Amino acid sequence: MEFKKCVRCGSFFVTEGDVCQNCMPKDKLDRFKFQDYIENNVDVSANDISINTGISMRNVNRYLSQNNNQNINL
Ligand SMILES: [Zn+2]
Repeated sequence: MEFKKCVRCGSFFVTEGDVCQNCMPKDKLDRFKFQDYIENNVDVSANDISINTGISMRNVNRYLSQNNNQNINL
């Protein structure tokens, strides 16, 4: 088993993904808002996304890099 540090709250956890069980619902919600925003807006910067969705820059950048890895079109 590998211990990971939750990227949202910093607590240690053992599970799949980047966030702990406590943060998973909020992370899913943020990811949904992020996806919805980039699908409905063109030429947006990470800063625009953060300001308009209320998602922290750190999480916006994380979602962006994950999207790039999965080849999802922005
Ligand atoms: Zn957490």
